[in-house]
Amino acid sequence: MKTTYRSIFKWGDKREEKLEKGVVELVKEQFQYTDADFDKRVLYGDREIVLDQKPKIPAAIRQQFEDISGSENVRWDDYSRASHAFGKFYGDLLYLRKGEIATPPDLVVFPRSENEVEQILALCQQKNIAITPTGALSSVTRGAETPRGGISLDLTKHLNKILKVNRVNSTVRVEPGVYGPALEKYLNEHGYTCGHFPQSFEYSTVGGWVAARGAGQASTGYGKIEELVLALRVVTPAGIIETKDFPATAEAWDLNKIFIGSEGTLGVITGITLKIRKYRPENTAFASFVFKDFASATLAMRQIMQAGTGFPHLFRLSDPVETATAFKIKGFDGSFSDRFLKIKGYRPGARCLMFVSVEGDKDYIHLLKKKIKRMARKQGGFYSGSHPVKEWLKQRYESAYLRDPLMDIGIMTDTVETSVTWDNLLNLWTNVRRYLESREKTHVMAHISHVYENGANLYFTFLSPMKPDEEVEDYLQYHRGLIDSIHANGGSLSHHHGNGRALAPWMEKEMGKTAMGLLQATKDYLDPKGIMNPGNTLGLR
Ligand SMILES: Cc1cc2nc3c(=O)[nH]c(=O)nc-3n(C[C@H](O)[C@H](O)[C@H](O)COP(=O)(O)OP(=O)(O)OC[C@H]3O[C@@H](n4cnc5c(N)ncnc54)[C@H](O)[C@@H]3O)c2cc1C
Repeated sequence: MKTTYRSIFKWGDKREEKLEKGVVELVKEQFQYTDADFDKRVLYGDREIVLDQKPKIPAAIRQQFEDISGSENVRWDDYSRASHAFGKFYGDLLYLRKGEIATPPDLVVFPRSENEVEQILALCQQKNIAITPTGALSSVTRGAETPRGGISLDLTKHLNKILKVNRVNSTVRVEPGVYGPALEKYLNEHGYTCGHFPQSFEYSTVGGWVAARGAGQASTGYGKIEELVLALRVVTPAGIIETKDFPATAEAWDLNKIFIGSEGTLGVITGITLKIRKYRPENTAFASFVFKDFASATLAMRQIMQAGTGFPHLFRLSDPVETATAFKIKGFDGSFSDRFLKIKGYRPGARCLMFVSVEGDKDYIHLLKKKIKRMARKQGGFYSGSHPVKEWLKQRYESAYLRDPLMDIGIMTDTVETSVTWDNLLNLWTNVRRYLESREKTHVMAHISHVYENGANLYFTFLSPMKPDEEVEDYLQYHRGLIDSIHANGGSLSHHHGNGRALAPWMEKEMGKTAMGLLQATKDYLDPKGIMNPGNTLGLR
């Protein structure tokens, strides 16, 4: 398994997951699959990796990188290069399954210190070699690819330390390559939490969270990553920029925000100060509700966010199809509770499931939960207890493992997310759904998982049989139509996955020429030779 294409594209701990009974039934029902179809091994990718392209960087220059970081930290074997060629964009997975790696990096370098990062950037600048910083390579927007070859700068091996917890200021200083679980374990042991739990938490890094401007599952309470970052240190080809951990400042522009979401195009983030919060898992209140339809549920969400009583931490609402799918997979259909809900008018195909958790001081969480219950009930929300939320939290990272076994049986499955104001949310949800469903045999689900006073995100998941021998072009065409539809219906290109190369072509349409010029000028100043992650994020030169 170690050096096959499959060993690269498999998610997370690389386990071979079997589809659970409920999913098998769903696939049979939706796509008319027979038992035999579940034995398929579509584009299985279990071949040994062999790269056609030899590294383009001459041995003499390679030696200079080895002089900086040590020969053990400069790799150019096929496996190292192939495993740094892609992130986890659906198209990337298809290319890996097909064994097609058009532009692997020439070298993978694991710097041991910030000083080495500086030297590596200087050498790349001098020799005009492209360089892409990487964390855990979980980008789903083609952010970490190397279209010009060059260096993949892997920060996870050495630059992964937790430097300091400051209890007085309630902050932590870290290096970029620390993974989510290592940071959270350390903080919990010190009585704190970071509060940032993306679904990719186990296999993503703090540097990647910041660079791709991500959001965790409890972002409604803790904030997106841009609200958690207090200070940054960034090595750019033009020099080092360091921001300070002032709680607030009126010193001109917010430099942090230039680098948050820059996806490796401006420099390498080498130091991050994050806000941290008290860790009190026993002080969490949970609630779940079933609503009669999506409109009343979103209205309740908006009213809760705008009530001025405080925000839930986890706040999540599945649309009717996602609710029906979850009920089916979990064996809820036909149960006593299902029959009871139907009698009360909570009909399958219309009803929606909402999850809430509130953290903090004991008095506060009880008060807020009480108020949330009252506001939900006003919109017809049926209180279904705390158990469903607790059960969901136990397996909160598991659904990421479904994608590989579904692809193994020829099912395309992908997710795309956007953010939208309240007054446009139902319109966007309806029209983007309509686009997705215009493809025959497509199962489309949506949920809201990051909620604000002024709007929310919408997260679409779709499953559809692949078109044999046209898997890549078929997907890319469908994906292009999807982004066009989101853009035309007034949604942002991305809410938390970043832009990457996947969305770069829409940036000028979205932001306008003048705004793009400003971004380009910043890029040109910090990276005059255009070596930093070329072609990423903004379609910059
Ligand atoms: C199954 C799955 C679930 C996901 N769920 C979520 C979710 O819930 N929320 C969410 O926000 N995202 C999610 N993502 C997307 C992805 O995990 C995030 O974008 C994550 O923040 C990327 O972190 P990483 O360490 O893997 O970075 P990488 O993928 O390695 O890099 C991402 C981008 O950041 C740049 N970069 C990385 N480190 C640095 C650095 N130190 N300095 C400068 N640039 C850098 C890279 O060049 C690249 O452009 C999910 C992805 C998958 C596969």
